[in-house]
Parts: sequence; structure tokens; C-alpha cells
Amino acid sequence: MIQLIRGFKDILPGETELWRYIEETSVSLFEDFGFQEIRVPVMERTELFQRSIGEETDIVEKEMYTFPDRKGDLITLRPEATASVVRSYIQHKMYAKDPIRKFYTIGPMFRRERPQKGRYRQFYQINAEVFGIESPLIDVQLILMLVTLFSKLLVTDIEVHMNSLGCPKCRPKFQEALAGLMLSAKDKLCKDCRRRSEKNPLRVLDCKVPSCREAMAGAPAIVDFLCPECTRHFETVKEMLEKQNIPFVIDKRMVRGLDYYTRTTFELQTGLLGAQNAVAGGGRYDNLVEALGGPAQPAIGFAIGIDRLVEIVALNKEELVKKPDVFIAALGEESMNRAFEWICGLNLEGIRADMDFSGKNLKPLMKRADKLGAEYVLIVGERELEEGSAILRNMQTKDQAVIPINSIVKNIKEKIR
Ligand code: ATP
Ligand code: MG
Repeated sequence: MIQLIRGFKDILPGETELWRYIEETSVSLFEDFGFQEIRVPVMERTELFQRSIGEETDIVEKEMYTFPDRKGDLITLRPEATASVVRSYIQHKMYAKDPIRKFYTIGPMFRRERPQKGRYRQFYQINAEVFGIESPLIDVQLILMLVTLFSKLLVTDIEVHMNSLGCPKCRPKFQEALAGLMLSAKDKLCKDCRRRSEKNPLRVLDCKVPSCREAMAGAPAIVDFLCPECTRHFETVKEMLEKQNIPFVIDKRMVRGLDYYTRTTFELQTGLLGAQNAVAGGGRYDNLVEALGGPAQPAIGFAIGIDRLVEIVALNKEELVKKPDVFIAALGEESMNRAFEWICGLNLEGIRADMDFSGKNLKPLMKRADKLGAEYVLIVGERELEEGSAILRNMQTKDQAVIPINSIVKNIKEKIR
């Protein structure tokens, strides 16, 4: 038997209802906030990710599914969505008509990480991205949107972690301070970090190897190196979050795993998932549009990991699964033929109607109706046909009513809705 690829998974009925509920709730909320859907491909030129996410990141160094297509061009299954959305914003000159754009997109991402609970090689994200707004108020609005979504989905154990990564003006001084520490701690760093410490010291702060974490424990905080503009931006974000009654913690060590972030960064963390505690993450990427060949336009976005979110929503999966409104227990061939016409009519009228096609007798038919969780059962046999009526049984109350067969679709519809 052929099994699926390690780190990949099927999402089966019973689960898909919850996934769709989460997606539909997100879409409806994001549209209230003025976001529009954008759909971008799952494959891009490798270069797009190298230039945006950054060459020294874990994602680009180790995790991308990259291969040459048949003509030899290097292509990559997207590890994240922001790069593609930025590419699309630039390619279609969307900024020309109106630089302010708010997008959301939902879909699969691919990273070749070590599979474990909450970590897959194909996983799903809901992304939101805003272009063209410099004001810190949009940072607050985006976090408000995220927190609102989580509360709509009845997620309780969640904490907003905030940091600022500054801008190219404040970053060099911080990196200088880091470099000193790294030089003295070089022996304790992993092989990757020793290499990264020179080219991209910020990445060392994001390393998950315990010895690197230990060596970096006393590292300076980037917030202590912010330029006046970045300080003011971050102060406003914090003040406005407080005004909106959104609790948060400052996480001076959080640098995020992608190079393009600037200024405000945030992560939603939960205590419910063990090691894989990040459910959503995001931040500003004010220089990325220009770096990828577009105009200088500020931007900010976030990504929610759906695979992790489904594990922490306090929603009843069972209740989301749709059950038949009515199951027709038809006895005998003639009844079955009539029943078939009725379920077709009912389905067209938007009633969930079902029947059994194998000619069973009443007992197994009632059993099946029960198993499917049907709200009503319509019982019809030869005698009922002759008398021109059928029996409609409410499976919960056990009440039974005799209803006339002519215009039965209309009769059932009236009974049910
Ligand atoms: P982590 O620190 O757990 O590796 P990350 O910082 O790499 O997460 P992001 O790139 O910020 O994750 O992606 C946003 C969200 O996508 C994460 O918060 C997480 O919920 C989800 N996510 C990331 N990688 C995976 C994965 N391999 N499997 C499942 N979900 C993932
Ligand atoms: Mg990761």
C-alpha cells in the first residue's frame, strides 16, 4: 500500500468542518476589517525566497523544497506567503492605483523540518498583509484583528509577545554590540551560528540549539538600541494596545525567523502545545517591497498556523459536522423509487435528505438513520403508498406525524424548517 509522504497529512471529514469553520470565521472578520482575498501560486522562483526571507535563515538554508524544473530553472514550493504577495503587489503595479492595500490569503506552505506534533512539512497558514501604511495604528489594528479572531474561536490560553527589530538605521549599533558577545562565546555556538555570527548576527538569537540559547542569554536587547523614530513607533503601538485593552508581554529576545522584519514584530504563543508554542507570528517589513524591486512602501502582516490553531480552539468538532435533516426509510422497490425522487427534490430545495439504496427492511434502516444522526425519518412502505401518506418521525422527541404524499417535498420542508 502506498502511504503518504513523511511530514504530510490528510485532513479528513470530521476535521475538515473545523478547518472550514476557522477559515470562514477568518474571512468574514478580515473582510469586516477591509481586507480582500488574493491567491498566489504555491511555487515561485527560488530567488524570490532567497532574497526576501534571507540566505542565512533556517528556512532558506535547510528547509525549502527546491528543485530544477524540466528546463533547469530553480523553483521552490513556498515556505511562506508574504514573499509571493509582495511579488504580486509589485508585478501588477497594484500600488499605482492605490498604494494602500489589505490582503488575506489561505493555503499550504512547505518546509522540510523534522516532523513532530504541530510541525509538518506541508502545513497551512492564514495570512494578512497591509501595504502602504506607515502609522503604528495599523500595527495595533492588525493585532486587534488577530486577537479578535482567536476570541471568536474560543482560544483561551494565548499571549501576545511583542518586540521591535528597529530599522536599518538602528540595527548596525545593535549588531556591533552583539558581535562582541559572539566573539567571546564563539566556542559555545553551533556550526551554523559560528558562520552566521559574522554575516547575520541577528539569526544567532533565533537559534534553537540549547548551547546557543545559553551563550546568548545575556545578549543585549535590540529595543535598547532603537533610533528615536523607531522608539516613538514602538511606544505608540504599546500605548494603543493598552488603550484597546489588549494585554501583551515584551519579548526582547524574539527576533523571528525571517530577515525581512523591521520595527514591530509579534507572536501569539500558547501554553497548550508544548514545544510548538507559536500559533501566529508577524510584523512590519517596511523595506521588502523596495528590496524586491517595487516602490518604497511600508508593509506589515501576520501568518496564523492553522494546524496548530485547530488543536487549541475550544469548539465542538462534532457539532460542526452536518447531519441529514431527513432520512427516508423506504420499504419495497416502489417506495424506494418514490423516495429517490423525493430526496432529489429535497436536496435541490436545500434540505439534507438521504436514503438507503440497498433494499433493507425497517430495523436496519432505522439503525442507519440513527448512525447518520438524522433529525427526522420519513417511513414509507407499500401500505403508506396505497393510503397516500407517510410517517414522519422526529428522532429526538420520537413524535410521529402522518403527512400526505402529494407535494411531500413541500410538506417536509414546512415540518423541518
Ligand atoms: P516555529 O518557531 O514554531 O518554527 P516559525 O517562527 O518558523 O514557527 P512562522 O514562519 O512565523 O513560524 O509561521 C507562522 C506560523 O505558522 C507559526 O506560528 C506556526 O503556527 C505555523 N508554522 C510554522 N512552521 C510550521 C510547521 N512546520 N508546521 C506547522 N505549522 C507551522
Ligand atoms: Mg520555524
